[in-house]
Amino acid sequence: MLEEASRRRTFAIISHPDAGKSTTTEALALHAAAIGRAGAVHGKGDRKGVTSDWLDMEKERGISITSSALQFRVGDVRINMLDTPGHADFSEDTYRVLSAVDCAVMLIDAAKGLEPQTLKLFEVCRARRIPIITFVNKWDRPALEPLAILDEIDTRLGLATVPVTWPVGPGGEFHGVVDRRTGRMIEYARAAGGATLAQEHDLSPEGALDRFGEDWVRAEEEHELVEPWDEDAHEAFLRGETSPVLFGAAVANMGVGALLDLLVEAAPSPAPWPLADGGERPLDAPFSGFVFKVQAGMDAAHRDRLAFVRVCSGRFERGMPLVHAASGRSFVSKYAQSVFGRDRRTVDEAFPGDIVGLVNAAALRVGDTLYDGPPALFPPVPRFSPEHFSIARVADAGRSKQFRKGIAQLDEEGVVQVCVSDRRGTASPVLAAVGPMQFEVVSDRMAHEFNAPIRLEPLPYSIARRPEPEIVDTINRTMGAEVLHRTDGTPVAVFRDQWRLSTVQGDLPAGSLKPLFGEESLA
Ligand code: GDP
Repeated sequence: MLEEASRRRTFAIISHPDAGKSTTTEALALHAAAIGRAGAVHGKGDRKGVTSDWLDMEKERGISITSSALQFRVGDVRINMLDTPGHADFSEDTYRVLSAVDCAVMLIDAAKGLEPQTLKLFEVCRARRIPIITFVNKWDRPALEPLAILDEIDTRLGLATVPVTWPVGPGGEFHGVVDRRTGRMIEYARAAGGATLAQEHDLSPEGALDRFGEDWVRAEEEHELVEPWDEDAHEAFLRGETSPVLFGAAVANMGVGALLDLLVEAAPSPAPWPLADGGERPLDAPFSGFVFKVQAGMDAAHRDRLAFVRVCSGRFERGMPLVHAASGRSFVSKYAQSVFGRDRRTVDEAFPGDIVGLVNAAALRVGDTLYDGPPALFPPVPRFSPEHFSIARVADAGRSKQFRKGIAQLDEEGVVQVCVSDRRGTASPVLAAVGPMQFEVVSDRMAHEFNAPIRLEPLPYSIARRPEPEIVDTINRTMGAEVLHRTDGTPVAVFRDQWRLSTVQGDLPAGSLKPLFGEESLA
């Protein structure tokens, strides 16, 4: 069991939209597939690397950017890559995915440096102390100076960086990188014939000087100014204090092989998962895992609902009876799948770090735990206080049934939080969102998936708190505030703004308004 766990790497990419997350995802999968298929390693010993007809592979394997959990193999190691939703908005989904990984790759556009969404996602990783690998992408285009990029990460994120590679040639003239572990150069050349996997050649320092003259000298001078990537740096990375940095251009698959290698060599394998009581579930304890994402309608033909479970301990075997911690009921895992693009395969077994998709698991909600043997109770998946509120109404009264069904399902999936208020009744639920983009997703899915277009009427609230029962009436009598009830029974007091909240709070017993969740500081 421990050996299986030690061969797993489970990570997600965090980035700002357009930095190249989809491109990098595909490049990684293609690179792994190419290594596996050609049985060769890239660019070692002045030998030409693998150039692959990746287009065929894409057709063959159906890689798509909508994959929620990709698994690929590099030698003995299985890499699980979780997709984070791409929208620019503050999104709860992304945070839940990040609760299921052991490592993150922070993708930075070399011309833009740190962007707002990257900063937010970084904070979530930092709160969980997830080790972060930095990949500076788009070096084939005009870019900032490498030292300026490192400096920005250091000063704005307070994260030390240690480059593992250093670019040879300024942005837009990307000849390759210095591998700082060996001092040798990996030269990148675009492959002929439109294939996307770059050719890689290994060059000695003398060979590199010969070929690239001043660009090589400059790279040498620059990277000598920064700390070496050594055992100490590796340990600091595993503690979440230092980030190894790579330079590349995902669109040409340059530097992506080095990223894959670093994931294999340096990224953490699954560790014992923390339990709610402060203890840990050992990796070799009986099976346990938790649902970090629920997705419906992935397969239009089957209208199914898939619950994604991260395995935390033990061996998962398809068909094994499990206990669903939330209900205490047993759960049969007969329909377990892995998802690779549009292609789904039955999963027969899985180990810590792996992701299992459970089909038609109607009883499962985000955050739910499944286990075998002694009970496992994991801390709750982080939730965030909503800041946007809208009344949802069915646009065509003849579609009320579909409307109710759709809203209930989106609530279960955690796409949006659904509340009702005494003032408005259950026919017009109030949707509560962390970011406004969640409303667009709801509108779109209600119209297209449930055939029940909706009208949204924004409410002028921006702050939510959990009230003690004895103050509910007082709040309901206050202008610019009211109490809603979330479908899980939690009362939610909402306020127009901070000023209104402070005024109300001044008149109430101390402690009668609490944060909705324990995660207020991240919101
Ligand atoms: P995402 O929004 O982060 O998923 O970004 P995409 O992968 O869709 O990429 C956004 C745009 O950047 C697309 O037009 C890509 O072709 C382009 N892109 C991605 N990686 C690179 C790169 O390494 N170099 C260049 N020049 N363009 C890239």
